[in-house]
Amino acid sequence: MTTWRVAMATDTGRVREANEDAGYVDERLAVVADGMGGHAAGEVASAIAVREFREHVAAHPSLAGLETALSAANSAIMRDAQANPGRAGMGTTLAAVVLVEYGGDRAPAWVNIGDSRIYQLRDGALKQLTQDHSVAEEWFRQGRLTAEEAAVHPSRHQLTRVLGMPEEPRGDVGVLSAQAGDRIVLCSDGLSNEVTNEEIVALASAPTSLDDAARNLVARANQNGGHDNITVAIIEFDHVAATVPDEALAPIAAPVVPNRPSTTTVRRRSRQISWRQVGFLGAFAGLLIAAMVVLNWYNASSYYLGASNGDVAVFQGQPHGFLWFHPQQVLDTGYRADQLLPGDAAALQRTIAEPSLAAAIAHASNLHDQWVSATNGNG
Ligand code: MN
Repeated sequence: MTTWRVAMATDTGRVREANEDAGYVDERLAVVADGMGGHAAGEVASAIAVREFREHVAAHPSLAGLETALSAANSAIMRDAQANPGRAGMGTTLAAVVLVEYGGDRAPAWVNIGDSRIYQLRDGALKQLTQDHSVAEEWFRQGRLTAEEAAVHPSRHQLTRVLGMPEEPRGDVGVLSAQAGDRIVLCSDGLSNEVTNEEIVALASAPTSLDDAARNLVARANQNGGHDNITVAIIEFDHVAATVPDEALAPIAAPVVPNRPSTTTVRRRSRQISWRQVGFLGAFAGLLIAAMVVLNWYNASSYYLGASNGDVAVFQGQPHGFLWFHPQQVLDTGYRADQLLPGDAAALQRTIAEPSLAAAIAHASNLHDQWVSATNGNG
């Protein structure tokens, strides 16, 4: 049977007032969560996530159970936030390694959402199993940033996926190809932001007890600044009896093309269009059509008087156009533009808005009449 030893250490760090991280380890589960949210809500979110994840995985110790455990944790956080408005918007990362039932034995697998990390250490080499769900990391994957730029980018702490969101959580699930002696480090970003990969390798693979290794990593993060809460869990495999093949991930998640060599077992949950989304799209299309009808009506119901070839003309539309509509001349009144009172002639050059075609014609006639009577009176 697959067995491991495991240890955990957590610390508030040297800057933060409270520890919003949470973690739990036992003989078949190691989980780390990094909570966020004001008024102590972060520690509530991470505690709920760890508790729900742990209970769900204990009841469903399978690959598929890892994803449904994320859903269960997400729902529990949302329910708590709705019941306690002061905690609205709280969220948490979650990274876990679990021994799932496979092939009549237990095999290691991992799940991740957010920017907590899981590293695998073997023979002094470190491999990061997880990808950070942060803005900078997404940009790196899209080729918009280099790895070096992403590592120092201001958006590297801005998370794109966490637990505590209204939609279904999209976590990554991976299988772990382990052998006896491998060590696995799970940590919140309070470790990975403060400690270099070289320091992690040196301290995590030192021939100390796992408890000491975890404590030493936390201590190093504090020495290097301790700007954030620090949580570290370390697993050491004593025996590996089963490994889940990569193909087993297919039923629970659609494969994506691996984009860096260290994450070859990552499968991202596919985006499926739900009936709800179809409904939203339909409603959106309906709104668009309604908006077009209204805009078209607004344009077509607008008239103005203007000069055209020396005559007073009636135009439909807005004087300088409206969106993609251009004004159209609909009528030449036959009245000459220079046979108007000077003020009216100037107003015509600026155009004169009219509520309807009939009103426009009547107004043009009226202006002409005023000019006629003024001219006759003068003559
Ligand atoms: Mn953190």
